[in-house]
Amino acid sequence: MKIFIALMLFATLAIAGDNDKLHTPKSFSANGRKAVFADFTEATYHINYDIASKKASVKAEIKLETSEAGFPIFDSVVAPTSVSFDGATVTTIETKTPNNETTLRLINKLAQAGVHTLTVEVPLTSLVEFSTDGVKSAFWTSDLDERKFLERYMPANFEFDQVKMTFLVKFIGAKNKQIIYTNGNVTEVETNSFKITYPNYYTASSIFFHAVPQGATTEQRFTLKSIDGREIPAVVYFTKSSWSASLDKLKAKTTEVFHELESDYGAFPHPSITVLQAGMGGMEYCGATMTDFSALGHELFHSYFARGVMPANGNAGWVDEALASWRDDGYQSLSTLSGSSGMSSHAYYTRTTDKAAYSFGERFMSYLDGKLQSKGGLKPFMRHMVDKKVFSPFFVEEFIKEMSDFYGVSLEADFKKYTYGSGNDFSQNLKAKSHIHRKMTIEEMQNFL
Ligand SMILES: [Zn+2]
Repeated sequence: MKIFIALMLFATLAIAGDNDKLHTPKSFSANGRKAVFADFTEATYHINYDIASKKASVKAEIKLETSEAGFPIFDSVVAPTSVSFDGATVTTIETKTPNNETTLRLINKLAQAGVHTLTVEVPLTSLVEFSTDGVKSAFWTSDLDERKFLERYMPANFEFDQVKMTFLVKFIGAKNKQIIYTNGNVTEVETNSFKITYPNYYTASSIFFHAVPQGATTEQRFTLKSIDGREIPAVVYFTKSSWSASLDKLKAKTTEVFHELESDYGAFPHPSITVLQAGMGGMEYCGATMTDFSALGHELFHSYFARGVMPANGNAGWVDEALASWRDDGYQSLSTLSGSSGMSSHAYYTRTTDKAAYSFGERFMSYLDGKLQSKGGLKPFMRHMVDKKVFSPFFVEEFIKEMSDFYGVSLEADFKKYTYGSGNDFSQNLKAKSHIHRKMTIEEMQNFL
């Protein structure tokens, strides 16, 4: 039995690594240097909040693997204060990809293909607020803008990469107890010093993290009985900005959506549920969301599609938004579709999601559902994706092939026509429901800490 489990674990890990390698972006030339993407295998983040000096910092220790010689790529929006590579101090260069799709950082050292270690230190200043009570800090993300996943706060890789991540969090000199809401496994090592381990399949867009001094939030904890027998721990909460909201209502809605999704798509893919009601619109994480009440269903749906069945890049990002919007409007069917979009065909290194996903993308899903009506529509395929592809980041081309294989009919021509077009259907995009993921500035988010 033990041997069997060990073999199973080994097989799962091996597959996760293979999937990373299959989705690693191609190398490119930058200022005469060959920039190569790496597969991060492990990352430990030492996150220190010094209450007395009101300063926070992160030291990331990353094990990575490159498959060709070149200058390894990572990303951090904040300029590092110290970087070492394989034990030697190095500098980094901020550069753009060939078509200016995105910005990233290169380690300014030619490295042979193989396993390397990278240590990067950065100050942590975004969404950090010190007070006499302690510190509030969050790593909230967005997929509508550039470089707004984990790299917004600390060194990370592109979204394709699944990394075994550990946070070692210290609140130095805090006189009150600090509380952490997160979708990982938290252990308090000593007073106000925490070790958080996250599942191996997490990427730069997976982690929900919100730390507050005790008393800054109000919460309700309960469990949800999954169809697979698990009692899934859940917490719903809000901060003082939403003091008038109702925890009972939030719990009831979370419970209702949880059962709806389990009945449509099978057992909830994550080991816990965290819901913060705050702000306008919402954002999804693995088994977690920060959302306003009206977007709660949309965001929890993303625990299946987006943070369960995961996009490997920006051109695959529209799929889950189109599906979520399709659910929001009650899974409508269409027999014809006019217009087109370029949701699948943005320049190669694009990291963001095309906002047409919320409008034209939704109608494209309605159209596919109509077209596949005699085969049961689109929902059986979605359930199949959760069964077969959960936690395996995909390219849109793989999604198309999987769907074509599932129904025994090629859908390539439809995707080509409607999602690889050159022009966007702008009149329709005006109705885009991107208010669901309404862009909040850091200043706006600061109010919800
Ligand atoms: Zn969404």
